[in-house]
Amino acid sequence: MPATESGSESGSQLVVISEKPPAPRKARPTPIDPGFHYHRLRKAVHVICVAVFFLLPLTNLMRIDIPRQRFYFFSYELWISEFSIIFFSMMFLMFVVAAMAMLWGRVYCGYLCPQMIFSEASIALESWLQRTINKHVGGSTRLRSLLSKAVFYVLAGLASVVLAFVFISYFVEPRDLLHRLLSLDIKTAGGIAGATTTILTLIDFLFVRLRFCTTVCPYGYLQGMLTDGHTLLVHYRDEKHECIECMKCLRVCHMGIDIRNSPYQIECVGCGECIEGCNVILAKLGKPGLIHYVWGETGERLFTGDRPWYQKIGIRDPKRMLVLLVLLFYATGLFTALSMRHAMLVQLAPVRTTLYRVDKDGTVFNTFHLRAANRSRQQQTLVLSIESLPGAHFVAFENAALINPGQTMERDIEIAAPAGAALVPGVNHFRLISRVGNEQDSFDETFITPFQDSR
Ligand code: SF4
Ligand code: SF4
Repeated sequence: MPATESGSESGSQLVVISEKPPAPRKARPTPIDPGFHYHRLRKAVHVICVAVFFLLPLTNLMRIDIPRQRFYFFSYELWISEFSIIFFSMMFLMFVVAAMAMLWGRVYCGYLCPQMIFSEASIALESWLQRTINKHVGGSTRLRSLLSKAVFYVLAGLASVVLAFVFISYFVEPRDLLHRLLSLDIKTAGGIAGATTTILTLIDFLFVRLRFCTTVCPYGYLQGMLTDGHTLLVHYRDEKHECIECMKCLRVCHMGIDIRNSPYQIECVGCGECIEGCNVILAKLGKPGLIHYVWGETGERLFTGDRPWYQKIGIRDPKRMLVLLVLLFYATGLFTALSMRHAMLVQLAPVRTTLYRVDKDGTVFNTFHLRAANRSRQQQTLVLSIESLPGAHFVAFENAALINPGQTMERDIEIAAPAGAALVPGVNHFRLISRVGNEQDSFDETFITPFQDSR
C-alpha cells in the first residue's frame, strides 16, 4: 500500500505520495536431485527374496526332507548321516547372518527378512482394498469397512495356505505335501504341521505383523550384542537446524518411530525409507537431506569419505576379526567336507564273531560286512578288488554290484584264500579297494588264518 503525506504551500494543497521500495523477492530455491531411491531398492530386493523363498524348496536347492532324512544343498543330496556337511552348512549360514548384523546392523531385517516382507505386503493389501472399495462401492461407511475387511480376510487366508505350503515344503517333499493338502490330511505329522503353520501365518498377517520384530524376534535382540561403534546405522544429523518439521520421516516409517530421537532405537530396521523421505522433501528446497546411513554414530556416511572400505568397516576390531575368522573356518570346513564327499558311501568291516573258517580242502574263509549307500541320483556300479593277499578271491560275489539311486545295499561277503596261498599263520594285512566311476576308496583290513598252520 503506498503511503501518503499531505501539507500546504502558498495556499495550495500539496500531496506527496512516497512509495517504499518493494521488499526484494526471495529467490525460489532450485530443487536438487533427491538422490538414491531406497524404497525402490527395497521393493526390488523383496521381490527377489520372495522368488528365492518359493524356488529353494520347490527346486530342491535347499531343503531338509524329514521323512526321507535327506538334506538338499544346491546340487548335493546329503544323507542325514553326513552330519559334518550339514553342521558346517548350518554354522556357516548362521555366522553369515551374524557377520551381516555386525557390519550392517538390522539391514537384514529391513531388506531380506520374510516376516518383514509379508507383514508389509499384508498392510499394503489391506489399505489398498480399503481405498479401492471406498472409491468404487456405494453404501454406508460401516458397510464398506465390513466388505473390505471380509475381502482382506479371505485373501489373507488364501495367502496363508500358499505360504504355509511353501514353508512346510522345506521339510516335506512338495508333491507329497500337495497330496496331503488336497486330501485335507490333519492326521499325519506333515498334515498337522501344515495346518498349524497356516493358522499361525494367518494370525501373523491379521494381528501380529511388525509387532513381531520389536517384541519376540530373537534376531532383533541379537543385534545389541553384535553391533559396535562401526556398525552401519541410520542417523539424523542437523547441525545447522535445518529440519522443517514436515514429519515425512515419521510418516514413511512403518516401524512408527521418529529417527530424530536417537539412532539406537531397537525398532529401527535400517530400511532407509526415512532417508529417502527427508531427501525428497528437502531437495525441493535445494537442500540435502538430514538423515543418512553412517558407519557408527560419529563415523562417515555411506559412499563418502576417502578412507578405504576395509577401514570404514573397522576390520581391525578384534570382535569383527574373530567373527570373520570363525566364518572362514566354517567355510573351509564346508568346502573340505563337500570336496571329500563321495556319491557312494562304502563301508567294509570284518565280521569277527567267527575269526575264520577252514573247509576240508584247507581253504581259509574270512567274512566281511559290506554296506554301500548310493547317495547320487543315478544308478552306480560298485567294483571291489583285493590287494596284497596272494591267491585270495571273493566267494559268491562277482566283484561288482549295481546299486540304484537312494538304495543302501548291506550284505556279508566271504574272502577265500586257497590252501597253497603264501599267507602267514595268524594275521595277514591286506587292502580292499572299492571303485565307483572315478572315485576310489581303500580299506586296510586283516585276514586271519589258523595261528598254528594245520592246513
Ligand atoms: S527410522 Fe527410518 S530406517 Fe529406521 S525403520 Fe523407520 S524408516 Fe526405516
Ligand atoms: S523429513 Fe527431514 S525435514 Fe522433515 S521432519 Fe524429518 S528430518 Fe525434519
